[in-house]
Amino acid sequence: MDKNYNQKDMLSQSRGVLKLCWQTVIIGKPVVTCLLLVLCFNTSCSTILGTYSESNGRSTKQINYTVKSGDTLSAIASRYRTTPAQIVKLNSLRNSSKIYVGQVLRIKVGVQNTTPRQAMKVEASRMIWPVQGGGTLTSKFGRRKSGFHDGIDIAAKTGTPVLAAHDGRVIYANNKLRGYGNLIILRGSGSIKTVYGHNDRLLVGLEQRVRKGQKIAEVGSTGKSTGPHLHFEIRTLDNRGRHIAVDPLPILTRSNKKADYRVNNNITAIIVADDKKHR
Ligand SMILES: [Zn+2]
Repeated sequence: MDKNYNQKDMLSQSRGVLKLCWQTVIIGKPVVTCLLLVLCFNTSCSTILGTYSESNGRSTKQINYTVKSGDTLSAIASRYRTTPAQIVKLNSLRNSSKIYVGQVLRIKVGVQNTTPRQAMKVEASRMIWPVQGGGTLTSKFGRRKSGFHDGIDIAAKTGTPVLAAHDGRVIYANNKLRGYGNLIILRGSGSIKTVYGHNDRLLVGLEQRVRKGQKIAEVGSTGKSTGPHLHFEIRTLDNRGRHIAVDPLPILTRSNKKADYRVNNNITAIIVADDKKHR
């Protein structure tokens, strides 16, 4: 994917885009290869993305952030790609451990320079495999004949517990995003988000806090799916503030292989909307 992809590009590319996601589903012995057709995007996303461009702007834009319940300085810093020390300095804070709900902090967005790989190392180092019992990896992250697969597919029997890969908060629990079926998106610490698609039943609701390993759904075959499996994605921001999907496999398996990544797609709209809501 073009590394210079920006949000406007993303927008024009995303409108009405048909994404093809090959998925191999293993049911018992026969191996059935199926085509998973994911229809992306709806028009309301353009508004959300436009607003985000303005408010986020270039990477060093300064914003005012109002401290919310549960916020920590390091979590806020990580979210806006800066450091706790920068926030302390910019706001002349005397006691960095004492921030309070309602406090307005000035934040310089994008001060910290990390590569996607470095960000993932820090934030995703303790993630767990999201299907209880393991399941069977049937499709990897990356380019396919007919498109790009933003995550991995893990086949398992219908009803198998889907587990939160990390501690976090539910920012999406619905079936409105076409193709993904019953979908959950979790926001973890820093800029980490994980995506769980095609579930049978969702067991958590919007804004709910979840713990790593908690059962959040059951494996299913909802949306554009031809057999029970979990479609799992890891998303984060790179050092230029671009939304990226990162190959989950090297992260989940703790391998030394460099995690491949791709800039942007439709799920970004949900993440950006949540950013805005909690700013
Ligand atoms: Zn998939």
